[in-house]
Amino acid sequence: MAVVRTVLIIDDNKEDREMISGFLNGDYNIIEPEDSKDAIRVLDANAGIIAAVILDITSDVKSGYGFLHIMKKRKNLSKIPVIITAVTDNDELEINALSMGAGDFIYKPYNLVVLQKRLDNIIRLSENASMAKYLQKDRLTGVYSEEIFCKKVSHMLFENPGLEYCIVYSDMENFGLLKDLFGENAGNNILVYMARVFKHFIGGDELCGRMEADHFILFLKYNKETLNKNLESIVKIINDFPVSMSIRLKFGVYKIDDINMPVQAMCSRAVLAADTIRGRYGQYVAYYDKEIWEKQLYEQEIINCMEEALKEKQFIVYFQPKYDLESERIAGAEALVRWQHPEKGFMSPGEFIPLFEKNGFITELDKYVWDATCGYIENWIKNGYPVVPVSVNVSRTDIYNPDFIEIILGIIHKHHLEPENIHLEITETAYTDNPGQIIDVVKKLKLIGFVIEMDDFGSGYSSLNMLNELPIDILKLDMGFVQGDMKTNSNNILSFIIGLAKWMDYAVVAEGIETEEQIQMLRNMDCNFVQGYYYAQPMPPDEFEAYMLKHNTIGKMDDINIDGLEELKFKKSQGVMLIVDDLVLNRKILSTSFSSYFKVVEKENGADAFEYIKENYKDIDIIMLDLVMPVMDGFTLMKHLGKDERYKHIPVIVTSQAGEKSVRKSFELGAVDFIEKPYNLRIILHRVQNVVMASKK
Ligand code: C2E
Ligand code: MG
Ligand code: MG
Repeated sequence: MAVVRTVLIIDDNKEDREMISGFLNGDYNIIEPEDSKDAIRVLDANAGIIAAVILDITSDVKSGYGFLHIMKKRKNLSKIPVIITAVTDNDELEINALSMGAGDFIYKPYNLVVLQKRLDNIIRLSENASMAKYLQKDRLTGVYSEEIFCKKVSHMLFENPGLEYCIVYSDMENFGLLKDLFGENAGNNILVYMARVFKHFIGGDELCGRMEADHFILFLKYNKETLNKNLESIVKIINDFPVSMSIRLKFGVYKIDDINMPVQAMCSRAVLAADTIRGRYGQYVAYYDKEIWEKQLYEQEIINCMEEALKEKQFIVYFQPKYDLESERIAGAEALVRWQHPEKGFMSPGEFIPLFEKNGFITELDKYVWDATCGYIENWIKNGYPVVPVSVNVSRTDIYNPDFIEIILGIIHKHHLEPENIHLEITETAYTDNPGQIIDVVKKLKLIGFVIEMDDFGSGYSSLNMLNELPIDILKLDMGFVQGDMKTNSNNILSFIIGLAKWMDYAVVAEGIETEEQIQMLRNMDCNFVQGYYYAQPMPPDEFEAYMLKHNTIGKMDDINIDGLEELKFKKSQGVMLIVDDLVLNRKILSTSFSSYFKVVEKENGADAFEYIKENYKDIDIIMLDLVMPVMDGFTLMKHLGKDERYKHIPVIVTSQAGEKSVRKSFELGAVDFIEKPYNLRIILHRVQNVVMASKK
């Protein structure tokens, strides 16, 4: 005999409650607590036997959510699935409930049969699956999660080997823009709406799932004609969603021809098909075909040989000069990688970088390119060649690598260079993935002294937002701006963006400059730098060296008015800068910036510093002192120094968090200056310069 399960029904509308319990009775044991407080008591007492809860939130949404919250927080209750019901057709309510952990959401008035089906399902799910999977459904939209979708597909294929099926992948091309313009909520609403539309179109033995963001996957019986018709209707219906923007859907279809292939791979094929029509206006469906298959094979070949290629130094760094528009002198260069493949021949980055970005190998390649680039610069310096800052490309995967800063600093130091020798080009789209992370990393890089260029600016969609938040130095305009038809209004946009950038104090680089006409236009718009075939193509290192010797370069970036580093006016000193700070990053920022002017010594607390000072006080030009440190703090160290005449000549700059008290006390104890953290490198350079020059007089 089947086990009769117990269901708790919480609804203060007595009629509704009796209607459900009447309908379910027999199939389920029903408990009807008086209110949600009583419900918690009943749940606590019967946690082990309650299979599901049906909770109506019509009359009091807030306490309904409160109840749900309590259930999800209590270990003994969190696994019990909750179905929320309400008299409303309010998507937001549903979204909220699902995102708070409700297992399902049902609108009143009920269709009792549907209610029972869903109840049966959710109980079965929660019993069959482990907690992590018990929902199986995507919380926002109620369709299957990717994992469950794949499992179910594989099961259904196995059960129906004779039928023809396909996987359809759906991608909303402008979802990011929509969210940007209309907000996260609108984004969620449209996803819920899309899921409903898809569900409407799928039959009993077909499936709908969601991968991530706006990407849905469908498992459908294959009939090309019906499918095309349905997709056309879906596009129309989804475009009926009330938002003042057309929704650009792209579908990729893979007709399943090998049921033994992992379902994930089938989905990837559908994704690949959709990718082929990305950006193509008016085309919304593409089928996986032989051409895509061959491309996949080709990519696999590349992947198979990439590691060996790196070992065998098949990658070569090319350099393309960047010109200062006003003086028409070379102000910098960009390092661009090429692949000299023994069989395939010479390959441009477009053929392999996107692939390496997908599979993560880009971090290895980038490290190699940075290292090679720094090696060349080191050599140029050694040989007395003219040296300009070289921009290297940093991909988004690099930024998410927690060791990124350490790696790039390591390379710089290995080649005895300074951060200012290279600029870092970060592509704009990296920002749209995870703005918080990139803002954080860029801030740190800037403190260390790197000049940051935003590459391909204007190609993504969050551009203007981003300008406010990211502390970059240089905007590198997407090539499309300059190469667009100059008679259209891309010209106006360009001049607007350059104006905006200038107003915000960024220098502007335009790339892809091929004609005199473009140069003239950019000059009129007051653009700072240009890069393009008009001046020079990217070239191999030896050619670039010859080119640099022949052409006029701007020595250091000194004429260039960017918010970067200025030359110190005092000459390189034989003396020591003693940096006392317990945090490595703080010490690194200072030591990297000053190592070309002083012999830098780092100590991590006052006590160690004091020992060093006793021995070496005659050699010390300046002390950069943090206040808060373990073992001996900055104040105590200054007290010690104040007591001994021998140390009085050494200027101490306190570097610490601001605080009126600390500032006053520092000066009382003899500090010559106080610099607030976080550092602004330019200010520090000035102040150190002032202090050292004053003390040398
Ligand atoms: P990017 O960083 O925006 O580089 C500019 C691209 O424009 C380069 O293409 C360059 O050769 C090309 N270019 C320069 N002037 C002109 C011109 O006047 N007209 C036209 N039509 N094109 C011009 P390339 O070298 O094929 O590189 C393509 C992209 O590959 C780069 O775009 C960059 O995003 C990426 N890339 C190249 N090297 C590396 C690398 O070492 N690491 C990473 N992560 N990405 C790289
Ligand atoms: Mg670049
Ligand atoms: Mg670019």
